[in-house]
Amino acid sequence: MTIELLRTPGATPADDPAGRILGLRCRACGRPEALGPSYVCASCFGPLEVAYDLDVVRDGLTRATIEARPAGIWRYLELLPVAAVPARGLPVGSSPLVRAERLGAAIGIEGLLIKDDSRNPTLSFKDRAVAVAVARAVDFGMEALACASTGNLAGATAAAAAVAGLPAYVFVPADLEPAKIEHALAYGATVVPVLGTYDDVNRLCLEVADELGWGFVNINLRPFYAEGSKTLACEIAEGLGWRLPDVVVAPIASGAMFTKIARGFDELATIGLVERTPVRFVGGQADGCGPVATAFKGGGSEIEPVRTPTTIVRSLAIGNPADGRHALELARATDGSIEAIPDAATAEAIRRSARLEGIYAETAGGVTIAAAEAARRRGVIRPGDEVVALITGNGLKTPDAFRYGVEARPAEPGVPGLAPAIPASYRAFEAWLER
Ligand SMILES: *Cc1c(COP(=O)(O)O)cnc(C)c1O
Repeated sequence: MTIELLRTPGATPADDPAGRILGLRCRACGRPEALGPSYVCASCFGPLEVAYDLDVVRDGLTRATIEARPAGIWRYLELLPVAAVPARGLPVGSSPLVRAERLGAAIGIEGLLIKDDSRNPTLSFKDRAVAVAVARAVDFGMEALACASTGNLAGATAAAAAVAGLPAYVFVPADLEPAKIEHALAYGATVVPVLGTYDDVNRLCLEVADELGWGFVNINLRPFYAEGSKTLACEIAEGLGWRLPDVVVAPIASGAMFTKIARGFDELATIGLVERTPVRFVGGQADGCGPVATAFKGGGSEIEPVRTPTTIVRSLAIGNPADGRHALELARATDGSIEAIPDAATAEAIRRSARLEGIYAETAGGVTIAAAEAARRRGVIRPGDEVVALITGNGLKTPDAFRYGVEARPAEPGVPGLAPAIPASYRAFEAWLER
């Protein structure tokens, strides 16, 4: 399909004179649609994505241009569906890409690097996606922001709305981790606890979005939201000296981030900023809610939704992932894999990452590390591979998870596993040491 066919009358925003943003396009049937807060194809109900004129981008963007810009996701503005760097916003992105030698040795991957995205303003990678969605919502003149959240999106949306000066409505499963609910409340968001699973919450939000026209970052703003994850691909490539790694390991909830990292690499190669080299994509899901991992293992192409997720990995607990099939195809097409991780292995991986690298991950990050190890064991990751594993959220969001499966000492008061308090005397400390 040529670019010209995609050009929709009126789809170029007035403030994007170069015309690099062409509009929206259906991923399934290719039908173009004008840029706006819509997410499904009017003719085939396929998912809408942003379409760019990459020839325009190639002509105007060099490595040196990017390197001269300030840190953060807007370094890669030309690959994002926003005309200009927003006037207001949180400092998102440019997270560390670090060699993880000790953890790598422990899991048999010498060339392990961690992309530590737990350090964004609200402690998860969701800040990337939300920054782009909110920039667009402001351009569209939307008066309220909202989201259906498995946890981290709540805080990210609430904080971004606070900076933009817009009200935020955050819909969450009522039994979500309290730390994540309080996080959103702190930014002044209205939290709507909903009885049911994330998929129930999402169904309700589809209706609310239709009825009230609020800017749901991951529903009617989803094409823009999803693009934000491409900045991970850009940062990984730039961090490696404008190269692609052999393997990327990332967690999968809806599958948006996983698949958009691939799209980011593809676009970077198309505009000539990196050489097009093969990258295997390894995904991780919890085995208590792993519809994509189950499909991968079964060899089929249909994703059977999980009705009742049973896992401590709440941030990935989407039973019916919007981009599940796309994620499945990506893993297969690149000789990657999708691993189902038991909660005990997730908890063990959180402990290892913290104790060997000083990186405290939330449950999704535990899934990533355990998935890397599983993919190494089955030979998807090979000796000598350069592997980038994504820690997408901070352990402070799921404070009990690292202890899961470890014998607690319930008879003792205070923090489980912590020794009883001692008097403030050296003698007492000495006795405690010799205990
Ligand atoms: C939401 C989330 C993901 C996965 O996001 P999708 O794009 O929906 O697959 C991964 N890690 C963390 C910590 C998240 O909050």
